[in-house]
Amino acid sequence: MQLDFNGKKVLMRVDFNVPLNGNNEITDDTRMRAALPTIRHVLDQGGAVILMSHLGRPQKKRLDDGSINVEKFTLRHVVNHLSQLLNGASVAFCPKTVGEQAETMAANLAAGEVLVLENTRFQAEEAKGDATFAQQLAQLADIYVNDAFGTAHRAHASTTTVAQYFPKENKSFGFLMQKEIENATRVLNDPARPLTAIIGGAKVSDKILLLERLIDLANHIIIGGGMAYTFVKAQGGQTGNSLVEEDKQDLALQLLAKAKDKGVQIHLPADSVIADNFAADAQHEVQPSAAVPHGWMGLDIGPDARAAFAAVIQASKTILWNGPMGVFEMPNFANGTKQIAQSVADATATGAFSLVGGGDSVAAVNQMGLADAVSYVSTGGGAMLEFLEGKELPGIAAMR
Ligand code: AMP
Repeated sequence: MQLDFNGKKVLMRVDFNVPLNGNNEITDDTRMRAALPTIRHVLDQGGAVILMSHLGRPQKKRLDDGSINVEKFTLRHVVNHLSQLLNGASVAFCPKTVGEQAETMAANLAAGEVLVLENTRFQAEEAKGDATFAQQLAQLADIYVNDAFGTAHRAHASTTTVAQYFPKENKSFGFLMQKEIENATRVLNDPARPLTAIIGGAKVSDKILLLERLIDLANHIIIGGGMAYTFVKAQGGQTGNSLVEEDKQDLALQLLAKAKDKGVQIHLPADSVIADNFAADAQHEVQPSAAVPHGWMGLDIGPDARAAFAAVIQASKTILWNGPMGVFEMPNFANGTKQIAQSVADATATGAFSLVGGGDSVAAVNQMGLADAVSYVSTGGGAMLEFLEGKELPGIAAMR
C-alpha cells in the first residue's frame, strides 16, 4: 500500500461476514482481525475509513413479507467489537449503504475515524455488480482499498465494479489481499521443489479443475477424504458404501494417466478407517481402501496411509493443502486429518513453505492450534480455490 492516506477518505471493502449466534453475538472474529492491519495503517496515516462488507445472505433469506431481515443481517452487529479491536477508536454506523445519509456521514468523518456502512447485500444491486450503485459508493471517498480476499471471486459492485471509478493511483489492495496473493503465487510460480499438493474433502467434482492444474505443477499429489474412493473404485477396488461419484470414474482414470505421463506421483490411501454407518459412534476398523466390505464405508485414511503420506510431506519443500482427509468433524475419523496437519507443521519447522487454503482444512488446522505452525493459512475458501485453479479473480482483475 504505497498510497498517501493523510487527510483522505478511504472506501475499504473488507470481509466482515462473521458467524453470529442466536443473540447476534460474534462467535469468531478471525475475519475482522485479518483486516485490522490495513484499517490501522490508514488511520495511523491520518486517513478516515469508510468500511463496506456483506454479512450473510439477506437477499436469499428475506422475511415472509418479502422485506430484508434487518435485525439478523445488519452490520451494526460488528460495530462495538470493531471499536474494541481498534482500541476504542470512534466507529460510527450508517443504517444505509448509500444515499444522502451515507454521503453526509462520510463527508463529516474526521481523520482517524471509522464509518461502517450497512450490509452491501441489502441492495440487490450488489450481487449484480450494478454500476449506479457502485458509483454511489465511490463518490463517498477519495481512495478505494480492497482487502476482502474472501469475496474476490465475486464480480459484485463493492468488490469489483466500484474500482473502475477510481484512477489507478487512488486504489490499492490492502495488506491481507497482498499477503493472500503473494502466498498463493509463491506456490504456483516457481515453487521450491518437491511441491506436494494434499487434496481432500468430499467430492472429486468440486476439485476437478484444481487437480488438472496441479498435474501441471506439482511433483506429488496426495489424495484423501471421500474423493479418494472414486479413484480407488475406478481402478477396480471394492469401496462398499464409501462416497463414490460413479460418473467421475472415467475422469479419475484420465487424471491418473495424465499424471503418469507427466511424471507426477499420485498417492492414494492404501488403507482406510471404515465404518458400518455414517455416524460418530459407528463401529469402525481398519481395512485396505480397495477392500471395503459391502455396507461399510471409508471415513478416514488408515495408519499405513498416514505414515506413507507423512513421509512424502516430510520430504517436500513446498506444500499446498486443501481439504480434510476424512470426516474430521467426528473424533473417531479425525486422526488422518490431524496427522496430516502435524506432518505439514513438522515439514514447515524443517524449512518447507506450507499454504493451507480453503474451507475445512483451515478449520482443522485452527482446531488443532497449528495455525502458527504452518507458513500461511488462507482466509478465502472459494476465492483461494479459484485462484489456485488459475482463474483470474474479478476483484483482483479490477485493480489492474
Ligand atoms: P470439502 O468442502 O470438499 O473440502 O469437503 C469437506 C467435507 O468432506 C467435510 O465435511 C468432511 O466431513 C467430508 N469428508 C471427508 N472425508 C470424507 C469421507 N471419507 N466420506 C464422506 N465425507 C467425507
